[in-house]
Amino acid sequence: MKTDNAHWRSFDRQHIWRPYAPLPGNADAWLVRHAEGVELTLDDGRALIDGMASWWSVIHGYNHPRLNQAISDQLEAFAHVMFGGLTHQPAIQLAQRLIDIAPAPLDRVFFADSGSVAVEVAMKMAIQHHAALGQPEKQRFLTVRRGYHGDTCGAMSVCDPENGMHRLFHKALPQQFFAPAPALGASDDDADIAAFADLLERHHRQIAAVIIEPIVQGAGGMRIYRPAYLSAVADLCQTHNVLLIADEIATGFGRTGALFACEHASVTPDILCLGKALTGGYLSLAAVLTHREIAETVSASEAGALMHGPTFMANPLACAVANASIDLLLAQDWREKVGNIEKQLIAELEPCRQLPTVRDVRCKGAIGVVEMKSPKDIEGLQPRFVELGVWIRPFSNLVYIMPPYIIETEQITRLTSAIHQVLSEKA
Ligand SMILES: *Cc1c(COP(=O)(O)O)cnc(C)c1O
Repeated sequence: MKTDNAHWRSFDRQHIWRPYAPLPGNADAWLVRHAEGVELTLDDGRALIDGMASWWSVIHGYNHPRLNQAISDQLEAFAHVMFGGLTHQPAIQLAQRLIDIAPAPLDRVFFADSGSVAVEVAMKMAIQHHAALGQPEKQRFLTVRRGYHGDTCGAMSVCDPENGMHRLFHKALPQQFFAPAPALGASDDDADIAAFADLLERHHRQIAAVIIEPIVQGAGGMRIYRPAYLSAVADLCQTHNVLLIADEIATGFGRTGALFACEHASVTPDILCLGKALTGGYLSLAAVLTHREIAETVSASEAGALMHGPTFMANPLACAVANASIDLLLAQDWREKVGNIEKQLIAELEPCRQLPTVRDVRCKGAIGVVEMKSPKDIEGLQPRFVELGVWIRPFSNLVYIMPPYIIETEQITRLTSAIHQVLSEKA
C-alpha cells in the first residue's frame, strides 16, 4: 500500500500542475488520507495540525458532521440544476442569509463559482453601471499595490504588478492605476492617502471603481493596514463618482475579528465579493453583493442585463453547505473565539521578532504573520514543519498561519512553537 502511494505521488509530480509551480514539481506533494477537525492525516499515518485552513476557507475544521449532513441532504434531492430560468431553496436561503449579515443596503446577490470569477463579475458590474449612466469612458480601475484579487485576466490586472507578473502578460492585461500600498500598521503619516487621492483626482473620469482588500491584504504580502485608510478611500470614491469594490474573499466571515473587515472602518462598499470561507471550505462558491441602485441601473441599460452567467452558477450543493456553515458560525461566539486566537498569536509569535532573520511580526484576528528579511530565509522550511507535525506553508518571505477557528489553545502553541523553532534553526 505504502509503495503504491509512493508510485502515485511520483505520478502526481510528473503529470499534475500545482498552484504557481513548475511541472514536474520540485518536490512530491504530501498525500492526505483523512482530514478531521484541525488535523490532516498523511498516507504514512502522521497527523499534522493545520495552520492554513486550506487557504482561509476551512473555518470550522475538516469533516464537520453538520456540514457533511447539509451536503448529503441536498445530494438526496439533487446535486445541480442550471440557474437560468430555474431556482432552488439552497440559493434563495443563502441570498437571504448573506443579505442579513452583509452591511446594509447590500441586498442584491450574484452567485459565482470562484473568487476570481466574483472579481470579474464585480468589475463588469461597475463598468456596466457607468455605461448605463452615459459614462462609457469609465472602464478602468484604481487599486493599491501589494493587492491580490485572483488569477483570471481581469482580476490579475488589479493584482500587484510585480507579484502578479504583469510584465509577462503585458499585452493580455488591461492597464489599471496603482496607488502605493497602504502603510503597515497604525501609521499616522497620511502620505499613502494623499498619493491615492492624487491618482483618483487626476484619473477619475476614466475610473469605474476602486477595488481593494479591506484591512488585510492577503496573498500579495499578508499586510495589515489602518481602518482610517479604508475610510479615506471610501470618502474619496464618493467624492469622485467612482464605485468601491471590497474584495472580502479572504477576510469575510470573521477572519479579522469582524464579520466583514469593512466593519473595522464602518465602510459599506458598493460591491462586495465573498468566497473562500463562504462554504466552510467544502466547495467552490463565491458571491457578489451590491445595492438596489446598481442593480436597477445595470438592468435598465441598453444591454438590459448583467453580462455574466457561469454554468455552475449557485450550485445547490455549494449553497447548501454555505447555509450550514453560516449557521454554524453565527450559532457560536465566533468573535470571542477569534479574539482569543488573536491574543494568543500576538503573545506567542511576537518573540520571533528577536530572531536576526525576521523583519516583522503582525497579527489580526485569526491571522498571524512572520515576515522574513529574505525569501532565502524560508527555503526548505516546509519539510521541517511536516517533521514537527504541523501544516504551515510559507511563501515568498512570509511564514503565516490562519487556522480553523475551532483550533484549541495547545494546538495553536504547537503551530507557533514550530514556527519559532524552525526560524531559530535557520537563523
Ligand atoms: C483567493 C482570493 C481570490 C481568488 O479566489 P479564487 O477562489 O482562488 O479564484 C480573490 N481575492 C482575494 C482577496 C483572495 O484571497
